[in-house]
Amino acid sequence: MADKIKGPDDTLSTFRLSGLQDEASRLDRHLLSCIAEECAEIIQRITKAQRFGIEEVQPGHDLNNRARLNQEINDLIGVLDMFGFVPDDKQLKDKQLRVMEYIEHAKSVGAW
Ligand SMILES: [Mg+2]
Repeated sequence: MADKIKGPDDTLSTFRLSGLQDEASRLDRHLLSCIAEECAEIIQRITKAQRFGIEEVQPGHDLNNRARLNQEINDLIGVLDMFGFVPDDKQLKDKQLRVMEYIEHAKSVGAW
């Protein structure tokens, strides 16, 4: 199986286009686990940043929480790319608008 994997871009298409549905299904399940793990690592980095500050450097580490969160987000994006995720500009903009609306709501209720 490993010899079929040439790189992240080829992995899923090789399995899916060759009709190796079991292989594709296994790869999908594996990548879904990777996505979940990276999401959990992002959550951990976020909670560390909330507890200790975004610029804090944890003893024994070289990078601050911002850089470590950035690393985890890149890990997630890398796995999402393998899974076939394609960003949708409209959905991204819509989400940003909703976040801005919730910031205004937070301000209006004194939670800002
Ligand atoms: Mg990671």
